[in-house]
Amino acid sequence: MKDIMKSYKRKSSHSTEREFGGTLGATCIPVLLPLTVLYLLSVCRSPAASVLQWPPPLPPIAQLWDPLAAVLIAGWITLQSFLYLLPVGKVSEGLVLRDRSRLKYPINGFHALSITVVLLSICLYLGMPLGYLFELVLPLAVCAIAVSYLLSMYLYIRSFWAPQHALALGGNTGNPLYDFFMGRELNPRIGDFDLKYFCELRPGLIGWVVINLGMLMKEVELRGSPSLAMLLVNGFQLLYVTDALWNEEAVLTTMDIVHDGFGFMLAFGDLAWVPFTYGLQAMFLVVHPQSLSNLEAAGIVVLNGIGYYIFRKSNSQKNQFRRDPTHKSVSHLETIATATGKRLLVSGWWGFVRHPNYLGDLLMALAWSLPCGLSHILPYFYVTYFTVLLIHREARDEKQCKAKYGLAWDTYCSRVPYRIIPYIY
Ligand code: NDP
Repeated sequence: MKDIMKSYKRKSSHSTEREFGGTLGATCIPVLLPLTVLYLLSVCRSPAASVLQWPPPLPPIAQLWDPLAAVLIAGWITLQSFLYLLPVGKVSEGLVLRDRSRLKYPINGFHALSITVVLLSICLYLGMPLGYLFELVLPLAVCAIAVSYLLSMYLYIRSFWAPQHALALGGNTGNPLYDFFMGRELNPRIGDFDLKYFCELRPGLIGWVVINLGMLMKEVELRGSPSLAMLLVNGFQLLYVTDALWNEEAVLTTMDIVHDGFGFMLAFGDLAWVPFTYGLQAMFLVVHPQSLSNLEAAGIVVLNGIGYYIFRKSNSQKNQFRRDPTHKSVSHLETIATATGKRLLVSGWWGFVRHPNYLGDLLMALAWSLPCGLSHILPYFYVTYFTVLLIHREARDEKQCKAKYGLAWDTYCSRVPYRIIPYIY
């Protein structure tokens, strides 16, 4: 223990800056967010589905635990770990690290999704009651939250054996609560198995669409066939997850992988928050069916299509530019030179607003909620939360870009004055 504390002092005199409300935020968020997940799931399944109802429709403690849920979560993480280790797909290198090395990552997330879809189809063919996920969703969420706590504790403890250069610059303040929350180690690995990269796009993201499918099957059990609204929610969110896994390599240049340590914030976000709150709309539709005209459905499909187009085109343009600025699809774009040698795009999508990818993502988020009608606030939870997340994320990214690029970043901001929504924000 003494050794740990000594090594802690030696290695932790690094970051002084605090994000997410500092120590107070890092103390409250790990308590409040898991409770929020359970609260939202309970409200969503209640007849009123109102976030304003008092007292809140909290389930009896006995309904929060089911050994089957623990078995399913353990089996799910084991299955996804096995798929991660399959020697299929290419292997890609991450960005250069502080010790000048580059880590290798398997790009086989899309294979993992495809194999999961085949396995699910077999389960359905064999008559397995996937709709039972609706009954099991609270205990499943409790187990996922427990796993994210256990994983974060493991990550925090093991980080004291990591070399200095392997620590994230932001989660290394010396304050145990804050560092536990932000994550001390940048790329914790067991052998070649990268824990952060695995959690980022596999168990939670694929788990999210499996839960959605469970809700669809529950609707079939209850009403004989899936509703148009349920098909839209399932289809839109499956497209989003498939896109993320098809373009898995792009995650290697995101803030989560490049900058943030792996601690409670990302572990909980990836394993519990995403699968159990992003699909609230599907859960809502099981209890509160909505009828949707073909015209309304067409309007929502168009909105999702526009959002997806902006999101995909802008992300691909920047990724292509960062990979190979001389490529013919980006070589004609106007750029600004920076002191780091990297250039910033000032025309094309990144000359439209400073985060066109966030704009597209937000339009899609709205399209995912609209099939649930306008009578309840709850299905709009995702788009509301996501707006706050992206505004906060934009501010964090802006700060990092300002630190990286200095005056060149100021020039970019004056050339492209709007952050996410043209003429508004
Ligand atoms: P971004 O893809 O927006 O990348 C930001 C980085 O891009 C900057 O740090 C900078 O890095 C580079 N950059 C910024 N401006 C320019 C420019 N003009 N020219 C060239 N490079 C520039 O990061 P995110 O990880 O935040 O988002 C990725 C995607 O993931 C987005 O579509 C977002 O909506 C989505 N997302 C979804 C979430 C969800 O829960 N559904 C959560 C978070 C994100 P550098 O210069 O070092 O290359």
